[in-house]
Amino acid sequence: MCEVKDHELVIIGAGVAGLTAGVYAARYGLDLVVLSEAGPGGQTATAATIENFPGFPDGISGPELVMRLTQQAQKFDVRMEIAKVEQVQFTDDGRWNLLAGGVTYRTTAILVAVGASPRRLKIPGERDLFGKGVSYCATCDGFFYRGKTVAVVGGGNTAIEEAMYLADVVEKVYVIHRRDELRAEPILAKRAFAVENIEFIWDTIPLSINGTTEVDSVILQNKKTEEQTVLTIDGLFVAVGYEPNTGFLADVVDLEDGFIVANCNMETSQPGIFAAGDVRNTPLRQVVTAVGDAAIAACKAYHYVAERR
Ligand code: NAP
Repeated sequence: MCEVKDHELVIIGAGVAGLTAGVYAARYGLDLVVLSEAGPGGQTATAATIENFPGFPDGISGPELVMRLTQQAQKFDVRMEIAKVEQVQFTDDGRWNLLAGGVTYRTTAILVAVGASPRRLKIPGERDLFGKGVSYCATCDGFFYRGKTVAVVGGGNTAIEEAMYLADVVEKVYVIHRRDELRAEPILAKRAFAVENIEFIWDTIPLSINGTTEVDSVILQNKKTEEQTVLTIDGLFVAVGYEPNTGFLADVVDLEDGFIVANCNMETSQPGIFAAGDVRNTPLRQVVTAVGDAAIAACKAYHYVAERR
């Protein structure tokens, strides 16, 4: 039989947005639970150093920030449960049912903070060699490539930060970018250009990743000349952006390119469902914007619930 749990607010996601929303909602006195598939963390937990979060002049590591935020949530008795929400259903009494495995969470309001997952290249070899040289997280896996040669695909902040992190660990880092100009912030780009063991390969995309038991090379194509080359590497780090984890909400709230459409009050197209952080159609995906979203969303969710008590 299906277990039913009843709350005023269910927060889905335990990254920085979900945890911050938990702290705010608990302080508003809401009866809430934070659900996540794998416990506290999210993307932030994979960041080597976060240099632009206010109040940390020397930067702070992603895992440490998540740990501190988790402790803060625990201090306010925020309940956290492991659960994968598969479906969201509106109920006759104007509330919501969240179906997660064998459990139904009944709730007045929902705050979605599920973030996004690394985008795949969708090229041959990527899936088969995942964990055998293909990685989406330099801080998680960089250590395995000590003294070796790796490549990072992408030209955004993540790719450049990962390349600089790897440069300290490995012998040589290639950055493969599809244009001749980085998307990353100029301050990061300037730093990366000055690192001796980082080499940029411009206007280039990977066509396939080769190897049997582990990655041994990648086939590249120059987009301007169409010339194909083989680059010998031990590992390939993919950092080509993120895709939102909103499949379970496709028929419930309005999405734009998969991201949840929410206004400046973090209200979605469905009354009672709020969104915060990277999952939202926001112009800037940063820890600082995610936690700002979360505070607003928790505040608006509180007023929504209070009016219906
Ligand atoms: P991003 O900014 O979206 O950059 C993705 C990069 O991957 C772009 O250079 C893009 O090329 C390239 N790309 C996309 N699809 C590709 C494909 N199929 N094949 C090859 N290349 C592809 O993603 P991100 O770097 O992960 O950053 C995500 C967000 O987090 C951004 O808002 C970023 O500012 C933020 N962030 C901030 C920090 C920080 O402030 N310290 C650190 C990390 C991330 P084009 O440039 O040609 O589009």
